[in-house]
Amino acid sequence: IFALRSSYYFSTGVVEPSSSLRSPPRVPNLIGGKFVDSQSSSTIDVINPATQEVVSQIPLTTNEEFKAAVSAAKHAFPAWRNTPITTRQRVMLKLQELIRRDTDKLAMNITTEQGKTLKDAHGDVFRGLEVVEHACGMATLQMGEYVPNVANGIDTFSIREPLGVCAGICPFNFPAMIPLWMFPVAVTCGNTFVLKPSEKDPGASIILAELAMEAGLPNGVLNIVHGTNDIVNAICDDDDIRAISFVGSNTAGMHIYSRASAKGKRVQSNMGAKNHAIVLPDANTDATLNALVAAGFGAAGQRCMALSTVVFVGDSQSWENKLVECAKSLKVNAGTEPDADLGPVISKQAKERVCKLIESGVESGARLLLDGRNIVVPGYEDGNFIGPTILSGVTADMDCYKEEIFGPVLLCKEADSFEEAIHFVNRNKYGNGAAIFTTSGAAARKFQTEIEAGQVGINVPIPVPLPFFSFTGSKASFAGDLNFYGKAGVNFYTQIKTITQQWKDLPGGSGVSLAMPTSQ
Ligand code: NAD
Repeated sequence: IFALRSSYYFSTGVVEPSSSLRSPPRVPNLIGGKFVDSQSSSTIDVINPATQEVVSQIPLTTNEEFKAAVSAAKHAFPAWRNTPITTRQRVMLKLQELIRRDTDKLAMNITTEQGKTLKDAHGDVFRGLEVVEHACGMATLQMGEYVPNVANGIDTFSIREPLGVCAGICPFNFPAMIPLWMFPVAVTCGNTFVLKPSEKDPGASIILAELAMEAGLPNGVLNIVHGTNDIVNAICDDDDIRAISFVGSNTAGMHIYSRASAKGKRVQSNMGAKNHAIVLPDANTDATLNALVAAGFGAAGQRCMALSTVVFVGDSQSWENKLVECAKSLKVNAGTEPDADLGPVISKQAKERVCKLIESGVESGARLLLDGRNIVVPGYEDGNFIGPTILSGVTADMDCYKEEIFGPVLLCKEADSFEEAIHFVNRNKYGNGAAIFTTSGAAARKFQTEIEAGQVGINVPIPVPLPFFSFTGSKASFAGDLNFYGKAGVNFYTQIKTITQQWKDLPGGSGVSLAMPTSQ
């Protein structure tokens, strides 16, 4: 294994030369502090969704290499857990500075591999950066509790200890933010980590790992392995991995949740969504339509908190035409082009799937108010572009409503009353987010109380909480007990230990009592 400055990911770390000299380059694993090329001959292409250019290849990491990554994490754990928390925090303090320094590089990598616009890619990095900033206060977040003199001369206190080796499995849609939801919190709590980035856009994870090492994260504390189902199953089955953070689709998430839980692991699984907005006629028309268009079509609808269904109540139904006009004005282009509002979807297969769901909506009676399927973007004719698409008259039994589309498609449903709209939203199996647009405090309060979604927006279209709260999707959008980041995130990556101590002069000769001790 060689240790050279990386020519592959912006020269901040170490990469084995053979991986960087290949064309296209192979994305290295990170094992025990070294970026190493996998021995595997099986690879998957990482494809630029705007051009179809092969950007790089990820290896299907071998089982031996996976075991080496877990072993590196296991060996790094004792020293890292005993490293003062102030030192661990300082690594995060440095990491946030380095992420700021290299935000442009991270964003460009995200746009190249994932397709979102550069501005949106900056947001991807920034929302992850905020979690790193939050982890800088871990000493306070991880504080235990203390009750003196619970009985005569006896004190009880509880402390939060790291678990050991934890793992993270990531989706494609936020290549920087989601790895940053995971490893900064885990390692600052004193754990070590094995990260499996999305096979579709692994570059940001590699850059972040390089930055973490530059910030002083010791060898073996963060490891990266690439692959798909096999490596994910290996993570679920490995006896040395104590907890898994997963973000992605329901199919993968529920599989991982049950397989890893059966092995006694902690799992937090953030999954799919169908986020609704209810629009009341008293809402501010222009502000609401702007918010709907931004939240429906931003990132080409590939956000787990994208607003994908709008329920127009009463007279607000007449706003659909204006909504179409507003959506039509959006510019579809490669994410690197300065005028782009939305870029391509992640793959040809994703485009095909989205188009099929649009077609199925039309076949089952929805009205196609805006059709983005046949868009051609000059200069990027091969890109996986879909323009903003709006279907109206959608009903609960349509496939386009039942399934998460994950593309730039906004479904509209009309409701005669607010109660009918709330009932419609609550019948959906997902519970990631829901928003209301209104100027009535009473309606907003009713919505906040009665709506069955884990993250509620009141005149806020994408209510993703900042890291001092937690990401609290519910119903089919989440499996587990402890959510990502915030206090729950710290609790997820730590186990509680309660200590009862007695320090007093003990009188001798009082005999042996076998009765259950009680507080005296
Ligand atoms: P995905 O489930 O296809 O992939 C996620 C990860 O799981 C990848 O690393 C992949 O390699 C692995 N994987 C996929 N299928 C697997 C299988 N059968 N067995 C084992 N591992 C498997 O998800 P995606 O397409 O990358 O991401 C989009 C999904 O993620 C959407 O459903 C979106 O709503 C969801 N998402 C949710 C949140 C949230 O916080 N709730 C955030 C972002 C994305």
